Amino acid sequence: MLVEDCPCGTGLRYDVCCGRLHRGAAQAETPEELMRSRYAAYAVGALDHVFRTWHPRTRPASLDPDPGLEWTGLEVVDASGDEVEFVAHWRRGDQAGLLHERSRFEQRRGRWVYVDGDVREG
Ligand SMILES: [Zn+2]
Repeated sequence: MLVEDCPCGTGLRYDVCCGRLHRGAAQAETPEELMRSRYAAYAVGALDHVFRTWHPRTRPASLDPDPGLEWTGLEVVDASGDEVEFVAHWRRGDQAGLLHERSRFEQRRGRWVYVDGDVREG
């Protein structure tokens, strides 16, 4: 898949933004950077990155692609300590909605990983 602007919304090109992390050429230095890269991975279908950056204690056995679901935008609401709160916009056919979540991250062997999150209403 060819992506020019990174789906995570930094305004940077994909290959110098989250693409580096998806390729394994760089590691996220902050929970926010990891969260953005996980969102972008969902958006471009790089589910191996989502899986790799999920804590083994909490990750599902496998991740299945959802071709009907399109991720259309990301806003980071708050990033402090090991938590990131964000709003992610999606579209499925002619339906649109958003996911508002506060995610928790942990450092494991020197790398940030996603642990879990609380979904917020609205
Ligand atoms: Zn990005």
